[in-house]
Amino acid sequence: MGLRNLDSLLITEIFQSIQGEGRYIGIPMLFVRTNRCNLRCRWCDSTYTFQGGNEVTLQELAGRVKEYGHEWVCFTGGEPLLQREALQFVDLAHDLGKNVLLETGGSLSVKEMARRDSVYIDMDIKTPSSGEENSLLKENLNYLREQDYIKFVISDKNDLEYSIRFLQDNRLNVEALFQPAWGTSLQWIAEEVLGRGINARVLPQLHKIIWGERRGV
Ligand code: SF4
Repeated sequence: MGLRNLDSLLITEIFQSIQGEGRYIGIPMLFVRTNRCNLRCRWCDSTYTFQGGNEVTLQELAGRVKEYGHEWVCFTGGEPLLQREALQFVDLAHDLGKNVLLETGGSLSVKEMARRDSVYIDMDIKTPSSGEENSLLKENLNYLREQDYIKFVISDKNDLEYSIRFLQDNRLNVEALFQPAWGTSLQWIAEEVLGRGINARVLPQLHKIIWGERRGV
């Protein structure tokens, strides 16, 4: 693909780790964490993406992706869809033979991303404890495919009831994941899902179990 010299993304950090969340949990990935977010979730664990960052050209990013041996790149933030060159980046990763797991807050359109087989979408459905439960761009639900999934981060009973209601009201053909906010009982959510016959997977944040709450893992 042809890259203009000035094509770049505002990046917070690039590192390799094990995917700690969601349907592709446990897979080694190169994390490309963009800078800036249009939301302000109360329990955000990436507030350091709200300012700063470095402009990194697509050529430089291509070099980092190319030298990384594993198959997956996690394109995360912040909100990666705020980056003007987001589509160029996922196409570049595809050209280099990588799958891209796109982690998005769900407020910006995923339409173009969902046209690409090599892009797998992790879309948050923001729960009430985030303070951003009205931020979802509803039409995004129509674009999700079998390989994508939605994720609810659950802090308390109110979040759990909201998530269950959301699934009942929307009847989606896409996998739903319930993930406890850090400090919320995984056992409680698992037992609620089992006891109430909810069609959702229950998963912890693996990277925090392995390394605790710190950056760059
Ligand atoms: S969408 Fe993600 S990065 Fe943005 S405020 Fe919410 S948790 Fe933080």
